[in-house]
Amino acid sequence: MSGIDSLPPLREVIAEHGLSARKSLGQNFLLDLNLTAKIARSAGDLTGCDVLEIGPGPGGLTRGLLAMGARRVVAIEKDTRCLPALQEIAEAYPGRLEVISGDALQIDWAAHLNGPIRVCANLPYNVGTELLVRWLTPETWPPLWQSLTLMFQREVAERIVASPGSKAYGRLALLAQWRAEARIVMDLPARAFTPPPKVNSAVVHVTALPEPRFPAPAEGLSKVVAAAFNQRRKMLRSSLKGFAPEIEAKLEAAGIDPTARAETVSLERFCALARCLKAT
Ligand code: SAM
Repeated sequence: MSGIDSLPPLREVIAEHGLSARKSLGQNFLLDLNLTAKIARSAGDLTGCDVLEIGPGPGGLTRGLLAMGARRVVAIEKDTRCLPALQEIAEAYPGRLEVISGDALQIDWAAHLNGPIRVCANLPYNVGTELLVRWLTPETWPPLWQSLTLMFQREVAERIVASPGSKAYGRLALLAQWRAEARIVMDLPARAFTPPPKVNSAVVHVTALPEPRFPAPAEGLSKVVAAAFNQRRKMLRSSLKGFAPEIEAKLEAAGIDPTARAETVSLERFCALARCLKAT
């Protein structure tokens, strides 16, 4: 018994199934079920929601999500060694856990879930930002999900919630704040994980807004901010010159000084620029 459910403690699960952590899969496990239940609680009211979890591993967060009342959890795991341990959780919560074996970057998760949908995950660090950008950039809004509650390295979490002018401000902040609200809800020291990573972590909670703060084409905005911050010390007329032959005029039409650097430009101006570029 573990305190939150009738299943064995995670150290026993890991030992029984031989789940030694693999660095190549970003495996830093959370073994404290009180902590995983706390993360699940920070995702909001899960009752009546389907929850998407990426990378359940031995299932600590999965158990937290189920114990906190998620209607169903759909969990995508790449490491097949974890499947027997996850199967035991599925048996303890009949009909409420679907485990999909595979790569989260390749799987059409939406086909497995019914709304309302929340996403909650202790993400593998090597695919975390790619998944976040995909969740933030569907062409139509509101998205299929209501909220994302995600563990990142602290430095990445700071980039998601950063304000213009700060060192951390860039593509992630712009995409997260364009159509959603993002805040850091929990800090976790490296020692909370087994094995401990080199850096501290934080949980970010992202809530989808009903509509974007400013209109813009999703793909165009994503591309333009990626290029602008890829060379963040350069003037925008130079870092964005590949976007249009008359880029200076486009920048001016969007209300941006062509000699400005990306980190000083607001979300509203970047959205205006993405609209001007689309109109060409
Ligand atoms: N959720 C568990 C926990 O909190 O203890 C494990 C988190 S661990 C940081 C990341 C998990 O993601 C590992 O179980 C790893 O095998 C899995 N993973 C890595 N790459 C993946 C991918 N592309 N698709 C799905 N799962 C992946």
